[in-house]
Amino acid sequence: MNIFTGLEQIVETDHPLSKHTWYGLGGKADYFIRPRTVEELRDVVVRSFENELPVRVIGFGSNLLISDEGVRGAVLKLEGDDFKRAEFDGESVTAWAGAEMSKLVLTCVKEGLSGIEALTGIPGSVGGSVRMNAGGRFGDLGSAVERVTLMDNAGNLFEKAKPELVFDYRRTNITARFIISARLDLSSADPDQIMRTVKEIWVYKKNTQPLNTRNSGCVFKNPRGVSAGALIDRAGLKGLQIGQAVVSEKHANFIAAGKGCASGDVLKLIAAVRDRVKQEFDVDLELEIEVWE
Ligand SMILES: Cc1cc2nc3c(=O)[nH]c(=O)nc-3n(C[C@H](O)[C@H](O)[C@H](O)COP(=O)(O)OP(=O)(O)OC[C@H]3O[C@@H](n4cnc5c(N)ncnc54)[C@H](O)[C@@H]3O)c2cc1C
Repeated sequence: MNIFTGLEQIVETDHPLSKHTWYGLGGKADYFIRPRTVEELRDVVVRSFENELPVRVIGFGSNLLISDEGVRGAVLKLEGDDFKRAEFDGESVTAWAGAEMSKLVLTCVKEGLSGIEALTGIPGSVGGSVRMNAGGRFGDLGSAVERVTLMDNAGNLFEKAKPELVFDYRRTNITARFIISARLDLSSADPDQIMRTVKEIWVYKKNTQPLNTRNSGCVFKNPRGVSAGALIDRAGLKGLQIGQAVVSEKHANFIAAGKGCASGDVLKLIAAVRDRVKQEFDVDLELEIEVWE
């Protein structure tokens, strides 16, 4: 008897994770589970906990590099309609983990609510974007997050709110496994003005990022006061290729995956870039993308 007996509708075994990453890379998960409701999520989490099955959660896979060997245990994706909701209440919105960040930005524009324009062009889910405190030079998501609803590994639901909630450069102090929803505090503004900002950010991204390639955004975090991309560029690494993985000519902090690329190619290229930047500038580049092996 399987630990997920009775949940066959939402559980798949040996499921290829390459279908769920922006890189289009990654081996199989032992179990791939798409809970449709919080109750189903809790059921899956409790059964996994009781059976000591490792559990991970995937959003839109836009910040992930998953190894060619895949991952053991269960990978959960919160993509049922219940997890895609966004409920507006005055100048606040409660967005659920599986909602698409870029759609939420545009809905907020329509509602005349400003505060998350900085997320324009960032292709993540709300859950993944809260976890990563996604953002950049225009601001980050954390500054709008007022409270989050979380679930721990044992299936307990609880909330965490500011000031207990801390957001930093591409990280938060949320340790609970699952982000269920986030309440964002926004402010009323002229929709045309917000849209102008969104368009400006979008044009900037289009001009500076290789958006027509398979990638995972910036591979490395910027070391304090320096741009990782500038260091990689100055080390002469633009265009460096290993297997079918290549350092983008357009933005040196992006690694694009060509046809037939394996995660192993990207991992080897990451190691090569790190080595060269260390040799040239004595800087240790830290990963911004998350590697699942
Ligand atoms: C073209 C491109 C441009 C990008 N530009 C930017 C940028 O400008 N700024 C930036 O910050 N990022 C950028 N990224 C990276 C990425 O889009 C963001 O980090 C995004 O917020 C990740 O969201 P996701 O849903 O894809 O998360 P995933 O990649 O699926 O997961 C990322 C992490 O979040 C966790 N996670 C996902 N969902 C949940 C949940 N419900 N509960 C708890 N944990 C969860 C995962 O376990 C994992 O640890 C870019 C990526 C691409 C491909």
